[in-house]
Amino acid sequence: MLALRKTEAGQGLALVDLPPPPEPGPGQVRIRVAATGICGTDLAIDRWTPSYAGFMASVLPVTLGHETVGHIVSVGDGVDAGRVGRTVVVNPAVACGACGPCRAGDPVGCAARQPVGLVRDGAFAPFLLAPADYCYDLPDNVPVELGALAEPLSVGAHALSVGGFRPGMRVVVLGPGPIGQGVAALARHLGAAQVAIVGQDDGPRLEVLRGMGFQHCVDRACDGADAELARLAGDGFDLAVEAAGVGAAIDQGLALLRSRGVLVAAGMPERPATVDIMRLVKYRLEIRGASRIPPSAWGVVLSALAAAPSALAPLITHRFPLAQADAALRLCHGRTPSKVLLLP
Ligand SMILES: [Zn+2]
Ligand SMILES: [Zn+2]
Repeated sequence: MLALRKTEAGQGLALVDLPPPPEPGPGQVRIRVAATGICGTDLAIDRWTPSYAGFMASVLPVTLGHETVGHIVSVGDGVDAGRVGRTVVVNPAVACGACGPCRAGDPVGCAARQPVGLVRDGAFAPFLLAPADYCYDLPDNVPVELGALAEPLSVGAHALSVGGFRPGMRVVVLGPGPIGQGVAALARHLGAAQVAIVGQDDGPRLEVLRGMGFQHCVDRACDGADAELARLAGDGFDLAVEAAGVGAAIDQGLALLRSRGVLVAAGMPERPATVDIMRLVKYRLEIRGASRIPPSAWGVVLSALAAAPSALAPLITHRFPLAQADAALRLCHGRTPSKVLLLP
């Protein structure tokens, strides 16, 4: 089978021919992959940035792909045989099961995670082995390919949860990439009173959001953006979510909050950021970090997908056969409008 892998330290990914994975072991399922999204993480691994080179060098070669949906084709010992044929999404955050936090019943805090598509072989391939406990049924009314959005949407659901989101809140999202778009869509679905999205030279991405009915999309690269933002902010937003992974956006987000507002940092900037601590103190603001998605966030996402699948469908803008992964990656490195899927 064809698989998109990181085969050696350094820049680049390789499409290689591999034998299909063996039959699933105890507690595992074998999945025929239907679609897998390309994530910023995959692009960073392609570029071999220091944050990934550090922990991945010792696990190569590995098949990438962690935003996936597919059909269970066989199950190992201890897994309900009735799950064969089910369409599932895969939570890639597989815990080791042996470390202190795992033994204490906190797999989300695992100190030695083996994420699918980073440490364990992932889903840029026709078949995937995954632990059954990490596979969640996609609701029947959701078109299969939308399942590939569940993982990136879970990042957004977690960010909102960390921010203490409640219906009626006014939310501003910094960074209109696939994660920020998901935050906006979920905030609206969950009952935000207003959702504004701020980009920086992000025309096509903001256009996707306008097409989804978001009226308050501001591109900082455009004339009048600051005045427009000030007008939208009014007395300040309740919650800001930084989803761009750009340090400067943290401070921009703080400036848009009301007193005692909360900024959730969900992006991962490669460089340290400067923050206006005077503003933070004076207006009693909070900055909270969001990572390590708990299973509860997946529940929120699967409910949102089931409630209004067509509302989230525009978040997928491109599809490529796995054999054309090169072209898909090139497109993604150039900042695509939204999610790009690889179809094995
Ligand atoms: Zn991802
Ligand atoms: Zn562990």
